[in-house]
Amino acid sequence: MSFDALKDLLTLLQLTEQLTDGRPLEDALRAVTDATLAILPGDHASIRLLDASRTHLLASARSGTGHDRPTKQLRADEGVAGWVLSHGEPARIVDVRKDPRFVAHARQGFAIGSMVVEPLVSEGVPIGVLSVSSPEVDAFSPTDERLARLLANCSVPPIQRARLERLAVTDDLTLAFNGRYLGTRLAEEMERARRTDTALSLLLMDLDHFKVVNDSYGHPVGDMVLRAFVERVRHATRRVDILVRKGGEEFVLVMPATGADHASEIAERVRAGLADEPVAVDTVRVRQTVSIGVATWDGRESGEALQKRADEAMYAAKQFGRNRVERARVRRRKLETRRAATRARAVRKAR
Ligand code: GH3
Ligand code: MG
Ligand code: MG
Repeated sequence: MSFDALKDLLTLLQLTEQLTDGRPLEDALRAVTDATLAILPGDHASIRLLDASRTHLLASARSGTGHDRPTKQLRADEGVAGWVLSHGEPARIVDVRKDPRFVAHARQGFAIGSMVVEPLVSEGVPIGVLSVSSPEVDAFSPTDERLARLLANCSVPPIQRARLERLAVTDDLTLAFNGRYLGTRLAEEMERARRTDTALSLLLMDLDHFKVVNDSYGHPVGDMVLRAFVERVRHATRRVDILVRKGGEEFVLVMPATGADHASEIAERVRAGLADEPVAVDTVRVRQTVSIGVATWDGRESGEALQKRADEAMYAAKQFGRNRVERARVRRRKLETRRAATRARAVRKAR
């Protein structure tokens, strides 16, 4: 244990300031895992936060070794984290090889000898876990465990606030953003694109003949297909892209700093990724395709107009036989009409 009281207090002070500056949920979580590694021994810290149904991860963050690898989708009832969540109490594991609660993952990417896992509890209900691990056996003392509890406790209120804000704009089934969020966020991204003079593209994606999936396999299987689709889109896109479930089986992907050609490539990747591999749900394999409209912001039109063009392109993809990507038409005619009007005004003024 390396207990340097002043240094640790300053780290905690900085953390409480970072947690109240209104940063996005993931960044807030990352501030906690960074502070955890600064205060405690160990080479890896992570937070996993549960969704509204408390069965899936709403968000997660990790610091230290292997933090660039994508987080494995962990079930809420698995391993030490699962034990901590279901018991609502912390676990200090001196040697993971001797503790039946520990479940090793084949592709973990870093060694674990010992660990401390603290529940994040809000109003008596666990909402996630804070974990810290070391490749060494017996790396954490009882004092370290108390420090981890202190970190967890002082982080919960701001994290819970950020979590509730996120839940309000999250679709419960797929954990994509919900339609309420689209207008606000699209406006923000348009403003950013204008300021930084970068491109902004949008995909409108509608699953093909989705009604047939419900009719053939039942609504719950349809639900799982919607979830699987969101997972696949996430694999084919970047962290900065914003995935929204607009309603039913219709999704929008907002892609900052992305021009028309790149957007079409991504749309094609999403289309092929779904068409090439049926979605496995329990014992059935569901063949599902998607029709996608691609539109790139012209720098002037409203968010609604941009969405409308993407929607028309998607509709064209349906008409051309589905399982297709179509690019939106650029509204030249309108532009020409506007230019003509400006010319006419100029002529009138000159007279
Ligand atoms: P198209 O290729 O023309 O898009 O055909 P489609 O069957 O996908 O289109 P349609 O809009 O007729 O049907 C959409 C279906 O999506 C109908 C509705 O029951 C189903 N749906 C909407 N929301 C959900 C949901 O949350 N879960 C499930 N399982 N089905 C849903
Ligand atoms: Mg459809
Ligand atoms: Mg539809």
